Amino acid sequence: MSNPSSSPVPHRDAALTLGATNQQPRGPELSLHEVLDRLGPSVFAGLLDADGTVRYANQAALRAIDSAPEHVLGRRFDTTPWWQGCEVSQRRLQQALASAARGEASRFDVRVATSSGAMLVMDFSLLPLYGPDGRVVWLIPSARDVSEREHAQHQLLLTRHAVEQANDALLQIGPDGAFHDANAAACRLLGLERAELLRLRVPDIAPQVDEAQWPQRWRELCEHGSLRFETRLRHHEGYEIPVDVSASLVTSGDTSFGHVCIDDLRERRAAERRIRQLLLFDELTGLPNRQLLSERLGATLQAGAPTAVLVLELDRFKRINDGLGLHIGDAALREVAQRIVAGVRSVDLVARRGGDEFVIVMVATSAEALHTAQALLDAVARPMVIEGQEVHLTCSIGIATAPADGDRAETLLRRANAALHQAKLLGRNQTSLYAGAPQDDDPERLALETALRQALRDEQLELHYQPQVDLVQGRIVGVEALLRWQHPTLGHIAPDRFIPIAEETGLIVAIGDWVLRRAIEQAAAWQRAGLPPLRMAANLSARQLVQPDLARRIEGLLAASGLDPRLFGVEVTESMLINNFDQAVQHLQALRALGVEVSLDDFGTGYSSLSYLRRLPVDVVKIDRSLVPDVTAPAEDVSITRAIITMAHQLQMKVLAEGVESEGQAALLAANQCDQMQGYWFSTALPAAAVETMLRDGRQIDPALFGRRSRQRTLLLVDDEENVLAALRRLLRAEGWLILSATSAEQALQLMARHEIDVILSDQRMPGMTGVELLRRARQLYPETIRLVLSGYTELQSITDAINEGAIYKFLAKPWDDAELRAHLREAFTLKEMADQNRRLDREVQAANRDLAEVNQRLQTLLSAQREQNQREVGSREAAQELLDAVPVPVLGVDDEGLLVFANAPAQALCGLGGGFLGGAATEHLPPKLMRALDGESILFTLAGRRWWAVGRHLIGNARGRLLVLLPQAGASK
Ligand code: C2E
Ligand code: MG
Ligand code: MG
Repeated sequence: MSNPSSSPVPHRDAALTLGATNQQPRGPELSLHEVLDRLGPSVFAGLLDADGTVRYANQAALRAIDSAPEHVLGRRFDTTPWWQGCEVSQRRLQQALASAARGEASRFDVRVATSSGAMLVMDFSLLPLYGPDGRVVWLIPSARDVSEREHAQHQLLLTRHAVEQANDALLQIGPDGAFHDANAAACRLLGLERAELLRLRVPDIAPQVDEAQWPQRWRELCEHGSLRFETRLRHHEGYEIPVDVSASLVTSGDTSFGHVCIDDLRERRAAERRIRQLLLFDELTGLPNRQLLSERLGATLQAGAPTAVLVLELDRFKRINDGLGLHIGDAALREVAQRIVAGVRSVDLVARRGGDEFVIVMVATSAEALHTAQALLDAVARPMVIEGQEVHLTCSIGIATAPADGDRAETLLRRANAALHQAKLLGRNQTSLYAGAPQDDDPERLALETALRQALRDEQLELHYQPQVDLVQGRIVGVEALLRWQHPTLGHIAPDRFIPIAEETGLIVAIGDWVLRRAIEQAAAWQRAGLPPLRMAANLSARQLVQPDLARRIEGLLAASGLDPRLFGVEVTESMLINNFDQAVQHLQALRALGVEVSLDDFGTGYSSLSYLRRLPVDVVKIDRSLVPDVTAPAEDVSITRAIITMAHQLQMKVLAEGVESEGQAALLAANQCDQMQGYWFSTALPAAAVETMLRDGRQIDPALFGRRSRQRTLLLVDDEENVLAALRRLLRAEGWLILSATSAEQALQLMARHEIDVILSDQRMPGMTGVELLRRARQLYPETIRLVLSGYTELQSITDAINEGAIYKFLAKPWDDAELRAHLREAFTLKEMADQNRRLDREVQAANRDLAEVNQRLQTLLSAQREQNQREVGSREAAQELLDAVPVPVLGVDDEGLLVFANAPAQALCGLGGGFLGGAATEHLPPKLMRALDGESILFTLAGRRWWAVGRHLIGNARGRLLVLLPQAGASK
């Protein structure tokens, strides 16, 4: 019994006695400190004097500041380390201490600093405890960590902010179709105030969903969890807006709502129309081009009426271009186009096939066609006056008719060409009807066909590989296998010439097989040789795509070579897919399931519907080179490319630009988020050995090209006067900005392509292009830049216009005031940074939207778990306090240092302890005899006229020190 820590008997006895004397159920065998210390690591508790001096702090609180009790006990609570990190919390505490001294409890959130430097957000309360005389004797501070709740609430706020700022319209819809919430973009889209919108229901704004249909729509959403579809919404002013809708069901507790994201399709539709315009019509004359011609001719022939095809070519047109200049040549072509259109019926089709060649398609017999042709010869031969110059032209016309000369578009065009050739041989300026026998039909083609059969046998075919480069890192990420045919006598024959023949004759199937095998073997060999992972892409032909076992064959070839299917890809074009959509899609899906990447080749030359793209199982969109703009291209071209890139990214597809021939193009593409490129600028298609060398050398795009992506604040100064530029550079040198300068608009545009410029300051009056024009262009190409004009020349109207349309942010006058100019530029940078941040936010919104439902859900679970835990913790803390106060025997606590750290009310009464004993030395406050019990002896002594057993025991667990329990003798003697 001499060592109570090794023998807990007296303590157990004490508890039993307690139960016996008080007729109370046996309570937890814990001391106050132990109880407080076991409240959990996130609950801080302590005890203060009425004046705020710390007398006790539990382990969790001490651990948080990595302090021993002696560093805090005896100090005023508000000067302890917990309060050093946040002045506001400290002030709040001081008020609470004052209130508590008056007997008022306080509860509020505080920020508490921990030793690790973290700030905890805590739900803090300070309770006064009264003594028997009704005065406040003790203050009990307790706090509970609610950082997670704070964090979740903060996250929610951020998400709310992001949602509100999003460019996409976002709506919350209840099961009854009523709008519960809407962000600013949704209100803008529909032209409604938020309050108005929140009074409406789905049928009020969606013409395609009436009252009766809504319940069915809601059921569909509940069934599928999410829906995506295109529809129209009605603007407040009555017109309809085409939109893309993504809806997902969010369930929180027992309520459900629809989270709806609406994408305005108007811009995309406009881009599609523009693409179609560019693709189907000739820019110079506005006439249908080759593409539209073959579509219309095909349709006319299908109708089965007798049809004539007239191919009209200007005689020796080159001499006009060479002699009088291209602009006169262009004007002459436009004039000829008008005369042809005027010379035929409005139902006839006139197309420009390229250069000086026009084609007329008319439902007519050969006699009628001859008659029209003669009239056209006369019309073209009439002299024309262009820019004061008299121009004389004649033309030759070849005619073929269906069904006599064939019933397919290509055949008819080929034969009309042959007739044209004949007309030219006969001396030009005349018409010729096709009269050749089928075997004379393009002898060159026949020769090529025979040669091609031999080529496959004699191994004249070879594959070259064109690198595909990533536009973020600059590294080669793949190669495209391209067929090369070196004929022993005819020399190099381009794929564009022999592949159509191979397609027509069916030879492409054997050639295609050979290409697949060769490409896969080569890729596998490169991997075996230890070259970096690289994706090999092979072009498929339409005929291959209708073979039922295509995917299986490719799978077999991959398995035989050991090539990882993810390092292989195929390229298909839209036209191949359209003819046999379902089967093609099945093949591509099977290939993708293997891991093979599918690219849509030559995007922009075919059907090119951005909406149609969504239905295709495609990983990469390859933008055709005709849609790859340069820095000097018209701004609409850049916006079309940008529209394609944005759309593809929305559909989770990558974008590769083909035919990149200049650094400017590459830089512009990189700046517009295009993922990859291929083209002569980086490399032509090369034999395998040359590609291997290139890969081993680690060749890549110069990272300077991506300077545009660097984040140093960049200012572009444009002025044709060098001395002005020098003065500006001197003035702004100390700002720490990267300053670029250009002496012409052209040079400025080149710099914009290479660098990510934040602010442009341009002179107005410059040779070539004015500052306003330059900035207008900059706005179209790089809308995010902030643009200012600095000029002594105030051509008021054009500058006001430019400001009004948003091309210019500010107009500053020369001569300038140094301080003012600096201030304007700093403001411009700040504005740019805010806008950048908004854009970043915007991108994050998409992701945030998806996370929103999940966050909501998590928050809900977290809050209810916390609520439960709080109830438990508060309950156990209160229970511990009550328990110790209710113990009718004196209990004292002395810490390792011999300081009195706890005495319950009976102990205080018995030992005559006044205020301020806590934290004092036990020897000063307790009778000397009692001190022996602290050493572990159970002693019997007399105090206040009674005999007591003093039983000491070590505290175990987190608490350190000793607990002294005084038991009336009768109980102690059992
Ligand atoms: P494609 O698949 O669109 O291939 C890209 C074509 O653009 C290649 O022409 C390539 O040499 C060319 N090119 C690459 N960079 C540039 C550039 O910067 N500027 C310009 N102007 N052209 C560039 P190529 O090799 O003559 O092939 C032409 C077409 O022949 C290919 O177009 C593809 O449709 C077809 N083809 C080539 N090899 C095969 C094959 O193995 N199988 C099938 N089915 N078709 C093939
Ligand atoms: Mg290709
Ligand atoms: Mg291509």
